[in-house]
Amino acid sequence: QWIYLNGDFVAKEDAKISVYDHGFLYGDGIFEGIRIYDGNIFRLKEHLDRLYDSAKSIQLDIPLTYEEMQEAVVETVRRNELRNGYIRLVVSRGPGDLGLDPRRCPKAFVIIIVEQLAIYPEEAYRNGLVSISVSPRRNIPDALNPKIKSLNYLNNILVKLQANLAGVGEAIMLNAQGYVAEGSSDNIFIVKKGVVYTPPCWVGALEGITRGAIIELCGKLGYPLREEPFTLHDVYTADEVFFTGTAAEVIAVREVDGRTIGAGKAGPITTHLLEEFRKIVTVDGVQ
Ligand code: PMP
Repeated sequence: QWIYLNGDFVAKEDAKISVYDHGFLYGDGIFEGIRIYDGNIFRLKEHLDRLYDSAKSIQLDIPLTYEEMQEAVVETVRRNELRNGYIRLVVSRGPGDLGLDPRRCPKAFVIIIVEQLAIYPEEAYRNGLVSISVSPRRNIPDALNPKIKSLNYLNNILVKLQANLAGVGEAIMLNAQGYVAEGSSDNIFIVKKGVVYTPPCWVGALEGITRGAIIELCGKLGYPLREEPFTLHDVYTADEVFFTGTAAEVIAVREVDGRTIGAGKAGPITTHLLEEFRKIVTVDGVQ
């Protein structure tokens, strides 16, 4: 396995970063998770757009142009000879001193890792996940703006810890006002009376690439889609609930906080969206 480390390709065992890297010391950096489906890097452009936007927002100078970054990703995939897998692209502030001042970090550090992906078993897509709502709140826009895909994931880790404790795969995070925001690493959708709802990102959700693809598919397939804030009550009483994310794709939820959702398995619209999503993943991207 070859890891892209700031311009070099190194073996996994030799892929190391400085203990002075501010990505490590302060979570000062950004990242992307991207899928490769049958040699197609799904929506690479959208992921790179989000990466460069995140960088701009935190005044991080990515030492590669957009084209060089695209080429670095493609080359890392090629070297690893993986036709299906997952890409983790990280840009950290780079090595500095122990103070948190980013001016002490002369050059950002770029890492690209490509590997196999452990995904949910196919059975989970048919039967749906059990989920819970958790107490950590999705931060509201300032430093931890959900639009910035930063290396500060402690809040999401707290969500994951509660999910682990309850023995569930993904959990539902609310924002400070109590509106449903997203999962620990997935966006959330509900379906009621044929209408598909997802929280607008300003409620406290990452502008997920999968979320965007599902919104587009709803348009194409004729499902009315509303970006509207909603509460746990709306989740409990929905006909269908599903999460979307690069790793999870479109995964149904059959139970939330002990309430059975709809028929207690993947609903028809969720199933249809997953089917159609799996048709576009091999074509809509960079080959
Ligand atoms: N929300 C959060 C907090 C995430 O980290 C992710 C990415 N794993 C998502 C949503 C889903 O976004 P995407 O579809 O771009 O993977």
